[in-house]
Amino acid sequence: MLITNATLVTWEDPNRLLANHALLIEGGVIREIGTSAQLEKKYPNEERLDARGQLVMPGNICAHTHFYGAFARGMAIPGDAPENFKQILEKLWWPLDKSLDEEAVRYSALTCLVDAVKHGTTTLIDHHASPSFIDGSLDVIEEAVVRAGLRACLCYEVTDRDGTEKMRAGIRENVRFIQKTKSPLLAATFGLHAPLTLSDATLDECRAAAPEGTGFHIHVSESEDDKYSVFDGTKSGGGGWPVDWLNAHGALGPSTIIAHGVHLDEYEMDQLADTETWLTHQPRSNMNNAVGVADVDAALEKGIKVCLGNDGFSNAMWDEWKATYLLHKIHALDPRKMNGMTVTQMAIYNNAALANVFFPMTKVGQLTVGAVADIIFVDYHSPTELSAGNLPWHILFGFQADLVTTTIVAGNVLMKDRILLTLDEAEIAAKARESSAKTWKKYNEKFQ
Ligand SMILES: [Zn+2]
Repeated sequence: MLITNATLVTWEDPNRLLANHALLIEGGVIREIGTSAQLEKKYPNEERLDARGQLVMPGNICAHTHFYGAFARGMAIPGDAPENFKQILEKLWWPLDKSLDEEAVRYSALTCLVDAVKHGTTTLIDHHASPSFIDGSLDVIEEAVVRAGLRACLCYEVTDRDGTEKMRAGIRENVRFIQKTKSPLLAATFGLHAPLTLSDATLDECRAAAPEGTGFHIHVSESEDDKYSVFDGTKSGGGGWPVDWLNAHGALGPSTIIAHGVHLDEYEMDQLADTETWLTHQPRSNMNNAVGVADVDAALEKGIKVCLGNDGFSNAMWDEWKATYLLHKIHALDPRKMNGMTVTQMAIYNNAALANVFFPMTKVGQLTVGAVADIIFVDYHSPTELSAGNLPWHILFGFQADLVTTTIVAGNVLMKDRILLTLDEAEIAAKARESSAKTWKKYNEKFQ
């Protein structure tokens, strides 16, 4: 396939904008880049996709999300509103995830995947929980991802909150799925909930069960509850802080993702930097849960690879860019905070590097020869000069998720001119409404 008449945004470092260009895609990979005139002449019989001057760029990557949270949309929490993060878990997320059955896992995932295709997020790193349907739950999500045609890395969050049997089922599900043969679009890692709900013994059991070279995907210090959970007298190893504890139990490293890290101290940041552990930032979620503001500037200065996730908020990653850009300015009362290039460093370069950890045989996140053809078209008509250098500020102040008109993953067109080609949105929404009604009923029964 030849994509013609494109203004390419390569997201190399440094970034390049190439007007009137074309891309040749073969076998899911970008094989050649040249001017539209050159490549149209060279490949006269190649199938064409005319970008009509739109911006053509790599698909967005989400470093941390939860497909299982889709049915929380519009759901009422019975009783008094949660007062803190622990209560948000106890009143919303834990009774909700326990209410998910196989259908609910399937339609929660498909709901999020429709959103991802429509809004140009082509690689997603998911963190799944469904304590009433653990065995095979990752296969159900895999099926949904394959149906959508997107790229994803999956895991199941192991926790002690539902007893030993379900904890062991969580370990089994991770190991089984990690060992299963994957497609080039599917990867796996080992999920853990958070220090808050994991014992010493469970963490050691996970470390022992995880196949060689596997890292972990875990929430850490999202709230103060989690930060202080290691002081409850039941955990040993390290100096008593969550990151320290994970390090002492061998859970950090270049394949491990720490989500949030809102309350990390300097000593913990040093350990993340030393072990090359990834840290993901989700400002919309942090603001919603009122848990605090992660010091990502300090983390980046220490050399920690900070990425951008969405924690189950919309798969419109430019909304997360905007939240990041605004939150840190108001928090510091300093408009110089959180430069647009810093957001780009996290959302583009670090997210691409993280995706490449899980898809090591490919090059994800840039338009260069040899990179995977994960591509979006953005119908943006700039009223001012647009350059490779000022693009981040166009994204922050001019881009909307619905400017994405075409989404391609591994050379397969998933959405063309805003028409979904792999997923039937109306059918998925109708099935999701049936399934979510059952889920809400089970959720409400837990409060009676
Ligand atoms: Zn999360």
